[in-house]
Parts: sequence; structure tokens; C-alpha cells
Amino acid sequence: LKASPALFRDEAGRISGAIVVFQDITESQRLEDMRREFVANVSHELKTPITTIKSYSETLLCGALEDKELSKNFVEVIENEADRMSSLVKDLLQLSHMDYEKVVWEMHHLDLREIVTDSVRKLEVHFQNKNQRLNMQISDEAVPIYADRGKIQQVIINLLTNAIKYTPENGNIRISAQVVDKNAIFEVQDSGIGIPKEDIKRIFERFYRVDKGRSRAQGGTGLGLSIAHNIIKQHKGSIKVSSELEKGSIFTVYFPVDNSVDIL
Ligand code: ADP
Repeated sequence: LKASPALFRDEAGRISGAIVVFQDITESQRLEDMRREFVANVSHELKTPITTIKSYSETLLCGALEDKELSKNFVEVIENEADRMSSLVKDLLQLSHMDYEKVVWEMHHLDLREIVTDSVRKLEVHFQNKNQRLNMQISDEAVPIYADRGKIQQVIINLLTNAIKYTPENGNIRISAQVVDKNAIFEVQDSGIGIPKEDIKRIFERFYRVDKGRSRAQGGTGLGLSIAHNIIKQHKGSIKVSSELEKGSIFTVYFPVDNSVDIL
């Protein structure tokens, strides 16, 4: 709370009145703190790959180029770091477009089941690479939503990629799509590392990660869930998380069922 006092004096200079304005600055302070933290995060996230690219290319120029095998390794590192920067910038631009309402949402009558099976197919190799068992529980009936296909696919892919990343080899991942009451529900459950209770409410914040090192090692930008959350909100949906450490997590996404068409 900020207090700004002012005194009023008469012609003789005597105090004739006073006024104190109390202003609640907690909200504006909070926004300013968030902005600063965001800029610090972006700078830090970009600085790390730039430093690596710079030092590896310097070493190459200082003679390592002569060694073919070593050069190949170094160039691969440089490429990986450039990829990391590129996904970070892509994610940031997407968030910024949503913040400034520049996104053109291509809304259509869709069946959520198709988007789910399509997304799973796209990630098949990743599940296989970690030998994770997939349990698909897709409703026999249509799961109609009115949505932007590409964006919903992104939500699903972000959640599935997290399930793969944060679940050890040979783990289990269950995916379901169904209508319950007036909701079209997509759920992904993993048998992974889980999320500590105190962190659950923060994982949708930009750049928030439970374990920065682990997330980076997996190629994460710390923005995937914020993007997913924004897209879900835009579709008038919601997302719920329940998780237990060392046991796994469940992410449940609810969209309003699209009743505007009888048969898809
Ligand atoms: P990241 O790129 O770090 O994965 P996200 O925004 O997708 O960024 O997720 C934020 C954080 O939430 C992750 O760094 C991780 O700590 C936690 N998290 C997300 N999904 C899971 C999951 N399925 N299991 C455990 N932790 C998760």
C-alpha cells in the first residue's frame, strides 16, 4: 500500500487541512515483477545456447576443424543449440501472438477422437524409443468439439510429449477421449516422476519448471504448458492436474461439447 500525503495551508501559512491518498500498488507491483522476471528468463534461456555456439565455433576455427570426427561432434552440438533457440523463439512468438490477440482461430466442427489418434500416430516413435506402453481408451461415439484443429493438436502433443519426457523407460501412458455430461474430455495419465504438490499450481506459468536441468536436458523450453493453457482458455475449456510423486500424473482437459451439428 502506498500513501501520498498532501497538506493545505491558509494565507498565513497555517495548516488548514490534509489529504492522504492510499493506493494499492500490490497489483501493479506484481505485474511489474512478472515482467522483469520474464525478461530475465528469456535473456537467460537465449544466453546459454549462444555461449555454447560461440565457444564451439571458436574452438573449430582455432584448429579443431582439422580433426574430422571432432568437427562433426562440434557441429552437431551447434545445430542442437540452434534448434533449441529456434523452438524457444517460436514458442515466445506464439505466446505473444495470443497475448496481443493476433491469432486467427480457424474454428471448425471436429471430432476430438480423430485429433487424438492423429497426434498419437505422430509421436509413435517417441513412445517406442522409450519402450512405453500405450493404453488408448477412445470412445466409440463421436466426441464433437468446435475448435481450431492445429491448435488442439498442439495441446495434445504438448501433453503427450511431457508424459513421454517425464516417464522413465518401460512406463505406462494412458490416453482417453470421451464425452462426459456436457464435456468433451481428453485425458493423459503417465506413470512418471510426478509433480510435487506445491509446484502443481505453478506449472502453467511461463518458464516454470520443477527441475530446470531435467527439462532442458529433454529439450524443453518451459513454455509448453503455458501455450496449452492459453489455447484451452481460448476454446472456453479448462485443464486439471492431479499428480503423485514417483507415481505419475494425470492431465485432464475439458472442452464444451459441440451440439451444433447432429452427425459429424
Ligand atoms: P517443459 O518444456 O519444461 O516440459 P512445460 O511448460 O511443458 O515445460 O512444463 C512445465 C514443467 O511442468 C516441466 O518442466 C515439468 O517440471 C512439469 N511437468 C509437466 N508435465 C509433467 C509430467 N507429465 N510429469 C511430471 N512433470 C511434468
